[in-house]
Amino acid sequence: MSCPRIEVDLSKIRVNTQTVVRRLGPRGIGVTAVTKAVCGHPAIAKAILDGGALGLTDARINNVQRLRQAGITCPVTLIRTPMLSQVDEVVQFCEASYNTEIAVIAALASAAIRKDKVHGIILMVEMGDRREGILPENVAEVAQQVMTMEGVALTGIGANFACLSGIAPSASQMASLCDLANEVEGVCGPFLKTVSGGNSANLPWALGDRTTGRINDLRLGEAILLGVDPTSGDQIGGMYTDAFTLVAEVIETGVKPAPFPIALTDPTTERLRTVTSRGASARMILAMGHQDTDILGLSMPVGSTLIGATSDHLVIGTSRSMKQVGSEVRFQMNYNALMHAMAAPDIEVKLLGDPPTRLSRRAQGKVEHLALV
Ligand SMILES: *Cc1c(COP(=O)(O)O)cnc(C)c1O
Repeated sequence: MSCPRIEVDLSKIRVNTQTVVRRLGPRGIGVTAVTKAVCGHPAIAKAILDGGALGLTDARINNVQRLRQAGITCPVTLIRTPMLSQVDEVVQFCEASYNTEIAVIAALASAAIRKDKVHGIILMVEMGDRREGILPENVAEVAQQVMTMEGVALTGIGANFACLSGIAPSASQMASLCDLANEVEGVCGPFLKTVSGGNSANLPWALGDRTTGRINDLRLGEAILLGVDPTSGDQIGGMYTDAFTLVAEVIETGVKPAPFPIALTDPTTERLRTVTSRGASARMILAMGHQDTDILGLSMPVGSTLIGATSDHLVIGTSRSMKQVGSEVRFQMNYNALMHAMAAPDIEVKLLGDPPTRLSRRAQGKVEHLALV
């Protein structure tokens, strides 16, 4: 089997999705799955849809195109406010997008009119993460402007937490978002279809004791893929944390003498060194490096320590019996490591588990419906 590779257990991803869908359903919250960390990988997306996600969302239009080319016809939104240079593709491939800029919304509207479509607009509100979003006091006004435009329909509002700040949302922030939904409807009239409360960092709030109010959607990536709460890094009860495994091959083993007392040839070269090797140590080199993944986001196998990495080499110290050249070492990845590895051109993605043999009903969506007519 080729190395390095990512082994993906599709059944674990499906079960993770089912678990969050079942827990959030009784609270009136549907799950929109975020596929950006897996670059819109179609088979992974299908496993997620099989698990009961209502739709998909991604930050990049290329990933959405990949989903569409694989025959996925469920609702797909763009969670990153569209680039002006990509509005035609956004309107073509996405039912709706999250937006913060009126100039972009106007361009989406023109593009939609050209294509004889109506594109959904979800306004992203800044609620404290200090990344994207319209300030709450300006949302009603922007919503009114959107209402006057042809080619676009105001379908919802949303907020995002913990991405830049790392701080999970508070109950009062979530209540403010619900109030804002009511305010926008008071001014604009239509019932907002989507009130999207945030991402995986919202799960402790959403599954807690308090009412979840008007929030009827969460956009979940990390929780479904890695089974962890992003703010604490802790496993979410009942979820698999090992749906993805990164496998690399040993290309050198042995004992290296202590480093020579010379300066590094290039002091500006950033070298990752977490263990200063005192004396000789048993080490192995794997054919994988910074070009493939975020090395600091790998959990080392038991008995192993990270000595360092360069673009193409990963040096590991081991207290266990040495592996042979040609053998494989397996790693779990955090979200950053997963995201980089999934995008790395030299890493094969190997699908395990029982992949859905046909597109699920949800994945087929409209196509199946048309076939019935
Ligand atoms: C990445 C992202 C998400 C998903 O975040 P997770 O922590 O992976 O659940 C949701 N919403 C927006 C706007 C994002 O950028």
